[in-house]
Amino acid sequence: MNTAQSISTLAQDATLQGEAVPKTVQTNSSKANLLGMTRAELEAFFEQMGEKKFRAGQVMKWIHQFGVTDFADMTNISGKLREKLVNIAEVQAPEVVHRHYSKDGTRKWVFRVGEGEGSLVETVLIPADDKTGARKTLCISSQVGCALDCSFCSTGKQGFQRDLTPAEIIGQLWVANQSYMEDVPVGDRTRTVTNVVMMGMGEPLLNFDPVVASMSLMLDDFAYGMSKRRVTLSTSGVVPMIDKLAQTIDVALAISLHAPNDPLRNELVPINKKYPLEQLIAACQRYIAKDGNESSRKHITVEYVMLDGVNDKAEHAQQLLKLLKDLPSKINLIPFNPFPHAPYGRSSRNRIMAFQKTLSDAGFVCTIRQTRGDDIDAACGQLVGQVADRTRRAEKWKQKVASQHNEILRTQSD
Ligand code: SAH
Ligand code: SF4
Repeated sequence: MNTAQSISTLAQDATLQGEAVPKTVQTNSSKANLLGMTRAELEAFFEQMGEKKFRAGQVMKWIHQFGVTDFADMTNISGKLREKLVNIAEVQAPEVVHRHYSKDGTRKWVFRVGEGEGSLVETVLIPADDKTGARKTLCISSQVGCALDCSFCSTGKQGFQRDLTPAEIIGQLWVANQSYMEDVPVGDRTRTVTNVVMMGMGEPLLNFDPVVASMSLMLDDFAYGMSKRRVTLSTSGVVPMIDKLAQTIDVALAISLHAPNDPLRNELVPINKKYPLEQLIAACQRYIAKDGNESSRKHITVEYVMLDGVNDKAEHAQQLLKLLKDLPSKINLIPFNPFPHAPYGRSSRNRIMAFQKTLSDAGFVCTIRQTRGDDIDAACGQLVGQVADRTRRAEKWKQKVASQHNEILRTQSD
């Protein structure tokens, strides 16, 4: 049984909500996948074909804004060029093997990006009403698994498998946008996702070039045209790469802090042993200082997961105040999302509110992340864990049935 089939068995399992998506034909072709190409790369691609550079912008609009993957439907391109493209290029998004749309508007997809149960990544869309209307924030994965092994993170527990390609990263945004456009005539299609956070599976700064290429497509007016304030990269603190990011692209930065002192952070976020807090805070200050006028870089978002009795005490809030006193920052408290065998519990609502009050009273903007999409495990790495788990169980069950079947055949022939 292949993964897609086992996942359709899984969909019948009441505990795993959502919809297994029938296997689509995946080409293993040597054609160039235009989905993940930046404007500069596409321009070079067309120039190599002896075509004008402006074709890049035209094709990008078809792909990213109208969701068109068939060159035959790209009507402002000459028939001859369309024919050439069919022979050498394709537009291939990663394969969706499971999706679930929650009652509260949260949507979640599991993509298969290779063979075997370890090759699944997930993407979550979380809607929120803000002052300007409906905000839709998409949480995108950058790697299959993660090597950094933070002690509270389900992705970390899965280990590192591989980096995602630019097509697999931007493909997550493409699929999420498409999910609102399927029934909309091509001419009326608009971009739906308003914000992107690189907060799915993986450490984006350890997959630098593909992540930067994908973010440049998010910002590009011929693709998603998003404001740089609305594209956020989250890192656990790969210090040299924060500086490299500052020199490469303008996006908002979030850091996964989670602890206000080195001994505790060494335990929760092991990369802290390599780049301790002093270095991390200095890198954040440089990130802001480099271009203080840029609205995307006026402050850093500090993520702080609330672990019951571990990092949520009054003394931790005091230490945090000291640590962040010279860093323009907004603090986002994240109630811990438990997963099977997790060694932590979620801090109580009262604890979280008391922690928030200390920080707000000192003048920090401090928000508590709403736990939405709980009915579909909308937290980093968790649905993938569940799908893989069920896949293993379905496989075991299949083996058991097969061996019983063989046993029956054997006894019948005796
Ligand atoms: N590797 C990057 C981005 C992916 S993790 C990073 O660490 O920043 C995205 C966010 O989810 C991080 O802040 C991470 O600490 C948080 N997170 C991971 N596991 C979590 C859990 N079980 N509950 C709540 N937040 C979690
Ligand atoms: Fe990796 Fe981020 Fe999870 Fe840490 S929190 S293991 S860096 S994905």
